[in-house]
Amino acid sequence: MKKGFVYLVGAGPGRADLITVRGAEVLKAADCVLCDKLANPALLRFAGKDTEVLHVPKRIGEGSSTQDDINRLIVEKALAGKTVVRLKGGDPCIFGRASDELTVLNEAGIGFEVVPGVTAGVGMAAYAGIMLTDKNHSSQVMFVTGHEATGKQHTAIDWDVLGKFSGTIVFYMGIGNLDSITQRLIENGMSEDTPAGLVANATFPTQRVVKASLNTISEECKRQKVESPALVVIGAVANSDDQLNWFMKKPLFGRNIVITRDVAGNIDFADKIIDRGGNPIQFATIKIKPMTDSNEFLLTLAKLSQYDWIIFTSGNGVTTFFYALEELGKDARAFGSAKVAAIGRMTANKLTEFGIRADFVPDVFTGRELGRQLIGFANLHDKKILLLRSAIASNELVEVLTDGGAQVDNVAVYTAAEEKSDSAWLAEGLAEGTIDWVTFASPSSVDGFFGQIDTDLVNSGKVKVASIGPVTSGRLEELGIAVDVTAAEHTIDGLLNAIEHEEIHNGFS
Ligand code: SAH
Repeated sequence: MKKGFVYLVGAGPGRADLITVRGAEVLKAADCVLCDKLANPALLRFAGKDTEVLHVPKRIGEGSSTQDDINRLIVEKALAGKTVVRLKGGDPCIFGRASDELTVLNEAGIGFEVVPGVTAGVGMAAYAGIMLTDKNHSSQVMFVTGHEATGKQHTAIDWDVLGKFSGTIVFYMGIGNLDSITQRLIENGMSEDTPAGLVANATFPTQRVVKASLNTISEECKRQKVESPALVVIGAVANSDDQLNWFMKKPLFGRNIVITRDVAGNIDFADKIIDRGGNPIQFATIKIKPMTDSNEFLLTLAKLSQYDWIIFTSGNGVTTFFYALEELGKDARAFGSAKVAAIGRMTANKLTEFGIRADFVPDVFTGRELGRQLIGFANLHDKKILLLRSAIASNELVEVLTDGGAQVDNVAVYTAAEEKSDSAWLAEGLAEGTIDWVTFASPSSVDGFFGQIDTDLVNSGKVKVASIGPVTSGRLEELGIAVDVTAAEHTIDGLLNAIEHEEIHNGFS
């Protein structure tokens, strides 16, 4: 049998899109991914959906694998002919046990490639605005493990050199030993008031920075209850200008924002939140169920080109429709000369992903208004119109178009079913006030959410509510929910703009 191949890949410091292009590429080709504890699980989206994923933390006592177990597993998968990606946090060659794993592969005659990653110390520097080699302060950097700092026994660390070092020292794995690290540096001649900084969860929306001096940093971290993973920076650059900390200044930085769409919609939304520094909390309340195997849909598809206008009212409708078209071996030519209308820019943008530029895109949010505008735009008398939408859409649009003299076929391409998931953790977060925002992008997600979460928990004043538009806000108000912001532009970006605006002008921080 053909032997497999192993890619040892640096996952980057945390945030998923800080992986290298090469890293993402080889993930795409992987049959099997062995994922390290520090590698962001969100990276697995770069892998195919049939890729086998194994999480292999190597801490003893967690009922988990030792380094030997991991080595054996990698070899076993590769000998079975698989393309294996071993995904490690940061860079695999910086405190990453790379040589252990590669030596074993060599012995087994298995080919490998090492893909570098942004090591945590470098990612931290960019995201906390701590310039490791600031020309005015430091001409040298040392990466040191803080793991070996305890006890007076033999250590591979040159504490005497470190104590006299005038550059920047970055300690990995140091937070548990911070007392000993600072003490040893001071014992070896470093001044007690040398600037010191600690960055935890670097590059994540949960990033924290603590700054103090060498003799107070440990106490300060205990007081602020900072937890691992964290890096310790010692040297003049640690006393950096807070203005350079661009990441933590983002208006949504650290905000815990609940997304209540379907799973696929949540992923896009989550990326946009991360982009603005926020922490997306995914709670899928609805499941999009295609209805494209119905006879009605299949018959409609066969005569698409006979329509004068085809109308899409949501991104979900577009996606479900085109997936079905593709499965039947067809493409957008099935539209023939029919014109296409899309309600809202979000729907129109989805259409362009499938190669269709909509002929008419009213920025409206009710069926009635869309109908009115379309009648104003084109003479619909005796025209054949096809609506491709959700099974639970209101009848308003059909009525307006029919009144305008059009012949309307209304065909369901999907329906939104409620999705029940474990909600106890979310209820707890809402009660404790650790959640900043709950967002709603459709009336069905409102229903799905409050089918599981008590309205009182949201009306407590501890959390704010954001809605994508008046229809969704209307549904919330019917349930007695106070809506804090309704997006002026009814897209996910519009929703986030509205939240950002509220945070800037009336934020809690
Ligand atoms: N190979 C990794 C380091 C592994 S050692 C790399 O190149 O980054 C594990 C240590 O890395 C942790 O104890 C912590 O000190 C540091 N670390 C990793 N990710 C981190 C993060 N997102 N924020 C702060 N420290 C991190």
